[in-house]
Amino acid sequence: RQNHIRREAGRGVNSMLHSRGSVSPLSRASEVFPRLMMAISVIAGLAHLSFIFLFDAIGVGAMARANIASVLAYALTALLTQQGRTRLALQIMAVEILLHGSVATALIGWASGFHCYLILIIPVAIVSTSYQPRTKAVVAVLVGLFYMLMDMSFRQAQPAIEVPPHLLAGLHHFNQAATLLILGLLATLYYRMVHSAEDSLRELACTDPLTQLRNRRFAMEVAQHEAAVFQRGGRPLAVVIGDVDHFKRINDHHGHAVGDTALRAIARVLRDGVREVDHVARWGGEEFLLLLPATEEEEAIQVCERLRQGVQALAAQNLAGEALGVSITLGVALLQRDESIEQALARADRALYEGKQAGRNRVVLAGQDGAPVL
Ligand code: GH3
Ligand code: MG
Ligand code: MG
Repeated sequence: RQNHIRREAGRGVNSMLHSRGSVSPLSRASEVFPRLMMAISVIAGLAHLSFIFLFDAIGVGAMARANIASVLAYALTALLTQQGRTRLALQIMAVEILLHGSVATALIGWASGFHCYLILIIPVAIVSTSYQPRTKAVVAVLVGLFYMLMDMSFRQAQPAIEVPPHLLAGLHHFNQAATLLILGLLATLYYRMVHSAEDSLRELACTDPLTQLRNRRFAMEVAQHEAAVFQRGGRPLAVVIGDVDHFKRINDHHGHAVGDTALRAIARVLRDGVREVDHVARWGGEEFLLLLPATEEEEAIQVCERLRQGVQALAAQNLAGEALGVSITLGVALLQRDESIEQALARADRALYEGKQAGRNRVVLAGQDGAPVL
């Protein structure tokens, strides 16, 4: 899934032209937030564990004991997060940071950098998923005011405990680095979430939910693109419209659900029956559009004939437990120089209509003036 997100990141509509992937589920803030809480619990737990040894080594027993309590607090927040109780985990985390950050700052001084952690409460509270915006705003403002108050009180004050200067500098940078690490993690997780949500939404907007084929809107964008390539002297383009024969009867005799199953099966036959560079879309109810780039007339007819036979062969497959006599009629038009894609589509549609008139279950090639030639 991660790989998929990375691969999909930054892809535009153009690069989606040949994508046949299915829609990935939207990643939600409610899924990402627990991951963030778990990561913070682990980082903070390990940091406090190292502080126990540090404060013990420099003989500040009270701070060492306080850190044992903190390690236990972060073990608890990890456990609660795992159980899905992120709200309680967040509350414990906030209390730990507020208490520990302010007490450590008061005892060892502003220069120790323990105040940095207080700032982290603001973004974490804001991205949390179990509070109302108003509550988040109140928490953010209160924490901000508390932080500024601490600054005024302790920046110039003489600390209660004297820590050797080199140790103080070490603490300062360690706390700074841990804060930056958590900030970076926070931003990364949310950036990824927004990106994958964007990709999923784009996929959804271009995909037909029943057949998972591209929908008409997207197919039209692709058709315009392929037509432009051809008109600039590029490869020929075959435009095909297929319409399932007597589909109304299938619905009437077997029910709408069986009709849907038949449409999905037909969609699969069409999609699996063309090359990777070809496009298959659901054009309407039981109509499909195929775009075959770099395909000459004869080859296009061959492909369509194969697809027609493939659809007909579905009858033997006993779809949804019912023997359905399904077939499809296909109208083919080769895009002409100085012809618009709409004109080619209209010719393909007329050829399709001729095919219906002539008895259905066949492939009809449109003439250049619109009259069918096959
Ligand atoms: P023809 O051979 O002339 O194309 O006959 P037809 O019955 O296929 O044509 P018509 O256009 O009269 O009917 C199309 C039917 O397709 C009517 C509609 O209920 C059905 N249909 C359209 N979309 C869906 C769908 O998503 N699911 C199902 N089950 N039926 C659909
Ligand atoms: Mg129809
Ligand atoms: Mg039909």
